[in-house]
Amino acid sequence: MPRPLVMGNWKLNGTKESVEALLSGILPAAESVKDSADVAVCAPDIFIDQVARKLTDTAIAWGAENNDVHTSGAYTGETSPTMLKEFGCTYVLVGHSERRQYHGETDASCAQKYALLQEHDLIPVLCIGETLEERESGRTNDVIRTQLTPVLEDLGVETLKKAVIAYEPVWAIGTGKAATKEMAQEVHAFIRQLIAEKSAEVAAGVQILYGGSVKAANAEELFAQADIDGALVGGAALIVEEFSAIIKAA
Ligand code: 13P
Repeated sequence: MPRPLVMGNWKLNGTKESVEALLSGILPAAESVKDSADVAVCAPDIFIDQVARKLTDTAIAWGAENNDVHTSGAYTGETSPTMLKEFGCTYVLVGHSERRQYHGETDASCAQKYALLQEHDLIPVLCIGETLEERESGRTNDVIRTQLTPVLEDLGVETLKKAVIAYEPVWAIGTGKAATKEMAQEVHAFIRQLIAEKSAEVAAGVQILYGGSVKAANAEELFAQADIDGALVGGAALIVEEFSAIIKAA
């Protein structure tokens, strides 16, 4: 079994003051599980320096929510992997559904970002998942397969040795309606099987996180599933008590 990983995705939230309070609040939970689980937070770029100062030499790693496909140049408003690396990031989210929906990200642009992150020794957290319409029309597995194709067919299965996958059904994000443990496990097993068709060794080692309305109340049952290796947490990652309880459930 891969080591569990609990990761927060703060999205477009926070103030200097709330970041300080949140990190102080969740550190004890992270320290308490550090021998058995990984904990990380992905923050808006503007807070990464503050997060780095606070979390250096602690049990919590940090990362960003996105990166550009270039390392430098005339690309106004973007942040490059080299900049994220300089500020101590370990992880970067790639292809979150909100970026696919609002910022035109495609499987191809996600693959480009994923590859560039790995070139700079950062760990991409590739987010995949179906919409409600896709699920209801029985296309969940096709969507997952398509979203994984660039990594499995073009970049190569070996790249997953230094990546994380997050299964986030779009209909479960921010809705309070998490996938049931059975539903989530079924898709996680399918993802692992797709990877195993290329390499059993990589499939056994890759961390596959579930995301979508994870909270203290459902974390334990989700983490008990054979192919769920942790969580990517949105709303509940902003609440000290909730995120601490999710960490302890890992
Ligand atoms: P919620 O936990 O708020 O549903 O968000 C999940 C998510 O999008 C994490 O990336």
